[in-house]
Amino acid sequence: MNCPGHVQIYKHGLRSYRELPLRMAEFGVVHRYEPSGAMHGVMRVRAFTQDDAHIFCTEDQLEAEILKINDLILSVYGDFGFDRLVVKLSTRPEKRVGSDASWDHAEGVMSRVLDRIKAQSGNMIETSINPGEGAFYGPKFEYVLRDAIGRDWQCGTTQVDFNLPERFGAFYIDANSEKVPPVMVHRAICGSMERFTGILIEHFAGHMPLWLAPLQIVVATITQEADDFAMEIVAAARKKGLRVDVDLRNEKINYKVREHSLAKIPVLLVLGRKEAAERTVSIRRLGSQAQQSMGLDEALAMLADEATAPDVKRAG
Ligand code: ZN
Repeated sequence: MNCPGHVQIYKHGLRSYRELPLRMAEFGVVHRYEPSGAMHGVMRVRAFTQDDAHIFCTEDQLEAEILKINDLILSVYGDFGFDRLVVKLSTRPEKRVGSDASWDHAEGVMSRVLDRIKAQSGNMIETSINPGEGAFYGPKFEYVLRDAIGRDWQCGTTQVDFNLPERFGAFYIDANSEKVPPVMVHRAICGSMERFTGILIEHFAGHMPLWLAPLQIVVATITQEADDFAMEIVAAARKKGLRVDVDLRNEKINYKVREHSLAKIPVLLVLGRKEAAERTVSIRRLGSQAQQSMGLDEALAMLADEATAPDVKRAG
């Protein structure tokens, strides 16, 4: 796990309360020796990449930090097309570290955030409380995604930690020049990136939205007379950052369409003699029989827009 490493970075130098909150994020590779029978595709592997982050803050900053984390997590899930989810709060177990006052404070913060999530989401997000299910070192949120066919996948966590900073001797100097251990928050959004990729494949049944598809477009020709135009399109599309391939094989167009549909390519640009002469493309979308004819520039602008990741689009 990456947590102790981040505590060591925190401890590199004397910290003042003025430096908090201190936030560290890392795509960290972690390992677990799973029994061979438990390993399963990309869903359960022995080495995986965690989108891990740790926030070091004061108790007073905890609520604002938890809210920020939560907004980020929900917006990431929304971008991937998951709008149905369950957020679970696990509270103090019998055996625990940390003072009752700290637990009262942290649980208070988290239940307020939970209420806010519920209120903001309409009925799309369910919330629940698991009393006594928290770790011995702090309460946590678990985020469970519900996929297209109703299966639940636990992905993210936000875990408050009263233990690790103290155990590793991490502290900050407060306004009264006293040494105080910070509150640490562990958070992961996707959890294991490998497993999250597997969940996306399941959720979309391989039919990825354009911005996520590994290969977005195949330019397929009907006749050799369109070859030059096809290569020109590939170059222009790549210039726009699109992931595109070309199929110039001497095969029937129906054969090509079928093959690329089976490979779940979202967009096929079909070119015949007419398209090459008029500098247009026939657009075929995965799962649809319809063909849309469009001028090349217009088509590429439309596809480039569609292929822009939602967060990039939001940023303008
Ligand atoms: Zn951690």
